[in-house]
Amino acid sequence: AAPLVVARSTALAAKQGLLIRNRASFEDARKLQTVVFDKTGTLTEGRFGITDMEIEEGINQEEIMMLAGSLEAQSEHPIARGIVEDAKQRNIKLKSPENFESLTGKGLQGMVEGKDIKIVSPGYIKEQGIEYQVDKFQDLSKQGKTVVFVLVENKLAGMIALADKIRQSAKHAISELNSLEVKSMMLTGDNRQVANWVATELGLDDVFAEVLPHQKADKIKELKQEGFKVAMTGDGVNDAPALANADLGIAIGAGTDVAMETADVVLVKSNPSDVVSIISLSKATYRKMI
Ligand code: ADP
Ligand code: MG
Repeated sequence: AAPLVVARSTALAAKQGLLIRNRASFEDARKLQTVVFDKTGTLTEGRFGITDMEIEEGINQEEIMMLAGSLEAQSEHPIARGIVEDAKQRNIKLKSPENFESLTGKGLQGMVEGKDIKIVSPGYIKEQGIEYQVDKFQDLSKQGKTVVFVLVENKLAGMIALADKIRQSAKHAISELNSLEVKSMMLTGDNRQVANWVATELGLDDVFAEVLPHQKADKIKELKQEGFKVAMTGDGVNDAPALANADLGIAIGAGTDVAMETADVVLVKSNPSDVVSIISLSKATYRKMI
């Protein structure tokens, strides 16, 4: 296409809330065969609320909320925001942790009031061989709820279930991609049952769950090696390596700075169906080219 046509298209795109940061990738968008989506914050709103708490016997729920909230106040993860919000609503006074570190893709750990606190994924619990109420956990997961575990001094203190909402526009995006014969897939660090629940609701072609951040990037490379033109859409720090490796990296505008800085296109309106707009616009712009 003539440079002027391309310039006009990127200006038009910007008006619609599509920030094109890399024109070569934008040109490739018309050839996409697969669009991979992160789950939390991308296909879902990324606003969690606590729905259930299962506290172990002899443990005080307020105390757990104080310890968990204090630690999560240091994290920007949507799960963390949900827990902190809940603690605030209960008027629980949070403390500053003496230290904290993130356990990449698994949760976080720190010292609060001299106690070692961990808030972790089911994967971590299984890895460590810690006993938990399996039936209750599966029951919650099947309802599409994300469950995290609170450990105090490495002993299970309770589980917290949180629910997020599927973005209305995600359903639209998937069915549009379907009619363009573009495959849609999900790549998430969350539990398999939760991932399957969302995938079924949306009608995705494939799901990869319980993947660590570096595995997200590996999966994208793998799909490319199979010969597909692949886009990755995500919002989190953990999505950045995958965004960088995709033919087209797409960041959700409401997401983290790291994701936006890594992406080829930013969806300012945080609307997953704008992925389809990019493909259409790329096709329209470069139609006359081979
Ligand atoms: P996603 O791909 O859905 O964005 P992440 O890779 O960020 O997921 O996280 C994977 C899992 O690690 C979460 O589902 C959760 O179990 C756990 N996790 C990550 N960060 C936190 C946190 N701040 N608090 C509790 N659990 C966390
Ligand atoms: Mg995410």
